[in-house]
Amino acid sequence: MTSRGVVWFRNDLRLEENPAWASATENHDEVVALVVLDPALLKSVGSFRRNLYLANVEALAHDLSEIGGRLSILEGDPRTVVPAVCADAGALHLNRATSGFGRSRDNAVARGLTCEISSWWGTLVAEPGTVLTGKGTLSRVFTPFSKRWFATPLPVHPRGDTNVSVVPAAGRHVDLPSFESPTSPAGNAGAHAALRDWLDNVDDYGDTRDLPAVAGTSMLSGHLRFGTISPRTLFDTVGTSTPGREGFVRQLAWRDWYAHLLLENPTMINAAIRPEYDTIQWRTDDAELEAWKAGRTGYPIVDAGMRQLAATGWMHNRVRMIAGSFLVKDLLIDWREGERWFRHLLIDAEPSQNAGNWQWVAGTGTDASPYFRIFNPFTQSRKFDSAGEYIREWVPELAELPSKHIHAPWEAPPLDLATAGVILGDTYPAPIVDHAVARDRTLAAYKQALGKR
Ligand SMILES: Cc1cc2nc3c(=O)[nH]c(=O)nc-3n(C[C@H](O)[C@H](O)[C@H](O)COP(=O)(O)OP(=O)(O)OC[C@H]3O[C@@H](n4cnc5c(N)ncnc54)[C@H](O)[C@@H]3O)c2cc1C
Repeated sequence: MTSRGVVWFRNDLRLEENPAWASATENHDEVVALVVLDPALLKSVGSFRRNLYLANVEALAHDLSEIGGRLSILEGDPRTVVPAVCADAGALHLNRATSGFGRSRDNAVARGLTCEISSWWGTLVAEPGTVLTGKGTLSRVFTPFSKRWFATPLPVHPRGDTNVSVVPAAGRHVDLPSFESPTSPAGNAGAHAALRDWLDNVDDYGDTRDLPAVAGTSMLSGHLRFGTISPRTLFDTVGTSTPGREGFVRQLAWRDWYAHLLLENPTMINAAIRPEYDTIQWRTDDAELEAWKAGRTGYPIVDAGMRQLAATGWMHNRVRMIAGSFLVKDLLIDWREGERWFRHLLIDAEPSQNAGNWQWVAGTGTDASPYFRIFNPFTQSRKFDSAGEYIREWVPELAELPSKHIHAPWEAPPLDLATAGVILGDTYPAPIVDHAVARDRTLAAYKQALGKR
């Protein structure tokens, strides 16, 4: 290889445990560290994710300056910018994309290159194609996948060379556009701070992970989304020495599984993995869809989750399942509407993870929640937010209701409602559907689509 290499950072915004960066530093005397701001892409993402991305790019620039280097930030369509930067380089190094959009962009870039390309799976723990059944296929069921995942030897990544000289790319460098700083620290340092906090709690993961009112999950998903820490570092650091740790690391297997599944099923982002489910007669009801988005369904746990999402760009996993199930199985609205809304708002939205989980909720994917399993929002709420603390935080107009009534205010005695200052249909919505009626309607629609009686 010639003496100059280019590393194109995308959703791997770190120097630590980054195989693309390490391979460039090992193989070249001079390395260009490149970020391309694609205006079309930046315009299309929601503000939470945009802010987090830009904060992480800024943090990467800082980390490079600490080793005497400079991040080259260029603007434009990567299909023209990247080949131009690579014109005098020996190789372009990158971590492979898993989304259809990313892969077709990378293929187009590769066609314009005059240098070699060196690509890695730096955003996953296990490489796609390495966790296979005895028949050499990707398991359609998670548990056997995860068993093999734990037993699969991890890929050997290059170690990198810290004595590298980081040089600026040819071309017009731009400043980062203005952005609002995220509420918790960004970049690799921010990810390690979050991980340190998490290590104090991870052993309790089994007991706390489903409780939205407590800090019982790592909240590392935004860091994983932009690769400010690698899932491999999390895997190695957390390990499996206690049930809590093993449970946490198993979530990284879910993440890998959905990414591997998307690579095999590129249409799963907008078509049911099991096509028979695409004949379901979904309802179109704009008012109900808007009520769901706004957190005004009259079901407190659903509304709390939707308001947390709108206010912070993140929602607790258990509540994502409850709110998702409510959209699909109580309102009988197409899961793709929910996927789109979550994709717009979530800091961690990623096509494989979002579509994979929505298909799990809707029962249209592989190893998904069966269609006849319909979450009861009231029971879920009472079980996982028993004291109503999460609801009180996000639906303050119900804060004064006693815990036994906060999950279903429509069943509260008028005196309790009055004492708490709640007027249903005025200060807080009456339920927009009756769960029992909605449940029957959904079962009928799914059965019809599946040709069952
Ligand atoms: C309808 C719906 C949509 C979702 N959309 C996304 C999405 O776009 N992006 C995303 O990263 N996660 C998504 N999830 C999965 C999950 O809710 C989040 O990963 C989790 O809430 C992130 O919080 P955490 O980092 O504290 O999780 P932790 O419990 O600490 O888990 C650690 C990591 O494991 C991974 N993980 C955890 N749960 C899952 C899961 N169910 N599927 C795949 N990976 C998982 C995540 O990378 C997470 O950061 C979705 C879940 C549902 C039900």
